[in-house]
Amino acid sequence: MIRRGWMLLAIGVVATGIALAYAGDSARATATGETSLLSRCWSESALAGTEKERRTSPNSTHLDLDALRAVALPKPVPISTVSRGSIRSVKLPGNEKLIALTFDLCESNGRKSGYDGHVIDYLRAEDVKATLFVSGKWFESHPARAEQLIADPRFEIGGHGLIHRDFSKASTAVLHDEIYLTEAAFLRARNRLIAKSCAWNAEGISTLQDRVTLMRFPYGWCNANALAAVADAGQLAIQWDVVTGDPDPHLSAKRIAQAIVMQAHPGAIVIGHANGHGRNTAEALKIAIPELKKEGYRFVTVSELLAAGEPVTTQSCYTEHPGDRKRVAQVKKRSRSK
Ligand SMILES: [Zn+2]
Repeated sequence: MIRRGWMLLAIGVVATGIALAYAGDSARATATGETSLLSRCWSESALAGTEKERRTSPNSTHLDLDALRAVALPKPVPISTVSRGSIRSVKLPGNEKLIALTFDLCESNGRKSGYDGHVIDYLRAEDVKATLFVSGKWFESHPARAEQLIADPRFEIGGHGLIHRDFSKASTAVLHDEIYLTEAAFLRARNRLIAKSCAWNAEGISTLQDRVTLMRFPYGWCNANALAAVADAGQLAIQWDVVTGDPDPHLSAKRIAQAIVMQAHPGAIVIGHANGHGRNTAEALKIAIPELKKEGYRFVTVSELLAAGEPVTTQSCYTEHPGDRKRVAQVKKRSRSK
């Protein structure tokens, strides 16, 4: 993919007379002649989120399935037996205090979800890494934001279904589309990004994520078929063991922050939202992140967390067994009472 990207770039450079554009960008260049992809392609004001974007709108975005099906996908490398199943946390050796913040950007048919710039802007300002699980439809309906998130080395991108369907009830054909067309939507945004003139010679372009290797089931719902389909597609099924409860309108920022801090442990995977469905998420992070830093935690992506230890994997899904549904409710209730 990278080689193909450079070919596209080379064509772009010749065709669009990039030299002039590059000269303009050089005002932000470092002494080495390079700047990060993000600062090369967007000004600070273009990166900053707006209040209006946080809102979900009822307008249905047209999903160009033909364009998604036309994307050349990398050959899947099925997941080995040991990591098949849903991963809820990571067992770390020694005393390493690593934790993975994750945010879902869900979008289903019939609406356009928001973009929570308050969350993303704060993570950038604090230089905190996070993993974003993004629906394919969200990528398609937020083209500029998708490119920015992919360009930012702080963020790892995972899939979250094409249109946020219930994987536990999906047929084999639907599972296939939900998984592979989401990766196609990611690649469409990535291909646009690397074809931009500003990406030429930018720092970080050679290490840009070039495929989707993580997946989060919408609602956390799955079954054996869904787990197998995700693993066969070469993606790890990532769940969570720390619930922020951020979609609950009755939860204050303080309560959400308390939930994160009280449940935090080395190797934890925390779930929140960055599509405007999280209420008070950014304000909660402004309390929880400094507190966790004070406690010695370092924020890493899910892949970095996995590389540092052993995944805690189950063959079940959160809502597959009656106890699981109750457990999630109990965690949320406990969080509220702290
Ligand atoms: Zn979701």
